[in-house]
Amino acid sequence: MNTAYTQSPSDLKHLYIHIPFCQTRCAYCDFNTFANREDFMARYVAALCTQLRQLGRDHWLPSADWPQQPLDAPAQPAASLHDLPGPLRRDDLPPTVFLGGGTPTALPLHLYAQVMEAAAELLPLAQAEVTSEANPGTVLDADYLRTLRSLGVNRLSMGVQTLNDATLKVLGRIHTAAEARASYDAARKVGFDNINLDFIFGLPGQTVAEWETALREIIQWDVDHFALYSLIVEPGTPLEAQVAAGRVMVPGDDATGEMYERAIDILGAAGYVQYEISNWARSQAADADPRRVVPAYASRHNIAYWLNADYLGCGAGAHSHRRGWRWADERVLERYARAVESERPPIAEANALTAADVAAETMMLGLRLNTGVGEQHFRERTGSTLDAVYAQELIELIELGLLERDSQGVRLTPRGRMIGNEVFVRFI
Ligand code: SF4
Repeated sequence: MNTAYTQSPSDLKHLYIHIPFCQTRCAYCDFNTFANREDFMARYVAALCTQLRQLGRDHWLPSADWPQQPLDAPAQPAASLHDLPGPLRRDDLPPTVFLGGGTPTALPLHLYAQVMEAAAELLPLAQAEVTSEANPGTVLDADYLRTLRSLGVNRLSMGVQTLNDATLKVLGRIHTAAEARASYDAARKVGFDNINLDFIFGLPGQTVAEWETALREIIQWDVDHFALYSLIVEPGTPLEAQVAAGRVMVPGDDATGEMYERAIDILGAAGYVQYEISNWARSQAADADPRRVVPAYASRHNIAYWLNADYLGCGAGAHSHRRGWRWADERVLERYARAVESERPPIAEANALTAADVAAETMMLGLRLNTGVGEQHFRERTGSTLDAVYAQELIELIELGLLERDSQGVRLTPRGRMIGNEVFVRFI
């Protein structure tokens, strides 16, 4: 077995837990998730809890005897909101836990409770932002939701995707728009006061006008947070085969770009603050404070990712980033469980990050935030200044009107945000 890594998880602040079960596979999905494996849930959760507890004892982390050598640099502090340009209201990110998948709400409550009990041994859940993804097609009745709250979940992220029932069918989703609304209302009724809804645009058959209508309808729901993603037709998915065969038509880049622009306009006019390329948070009165950069309902867990902070991921296919290492757990359920049951870390691959990797990731992730990459944040994560690493790239991207810079840092311009990926590759 690998020996303990050099740092105690006592400095752990961000934890991702992967629940790789879904009732069915959606046509567009390429996540590590499995349908019809209810038979494996109890064994999986037992393995997951063992892994969480081993990590809590400082075990099962990549170690100095791993084939690759860790980054030859001092341990980096976890990034904090202080690192964002501009003074902020909150001192730091709170601890965060994110249960994603897959479908965490596919778990029966007694298994969900076991996961939360093990997570509570690593992080103080009462002080943490604890998010669970929730599929409106699973049993999201008042009792289930109330129990989630009592287990410590204080933020829900619901995958609604579209309000068009015919498109939901094409996507292979197991809910209707009415069921999504009912699940959302039920969550509100039992007291969830921090709810994100995921939507996809650029969907098969979708027009800009239909997207606009849907946006105007969902802002009536008084949602706290939206994550809006452009459809990606992933290789190897059933949707890709349907598109290739001409059975399903998806809008072109121009229409999809227009949908994104309409979302920015409509959500902005409705008082939502876009704080990241794909994320909007409901504006609070306190958010009007000019000293405040991150809105109250922003996802703290995702901000930790975008600040290139350290986090642990547990579960089949989960990724971790910590102390100069990135690693991924075994993706296949049986391999993952067998490793844990044999008292071996379920790590499939681990890579020590070079200084160049850390610099590139800090830029690519941080530029997703509207506040961009702060000079101080970059220095703390890399030990170098922006100019020492990227002087030429910055000059060129500013000349192209894709980046802007002031004394505090660099950020995407509105035009740069439209073609973010083209900007990000310049830092690799
Ligand atoms: S519910 Fe989510 S994770 Fe599950 S198959 Fe559908 S898209 Fe994939």
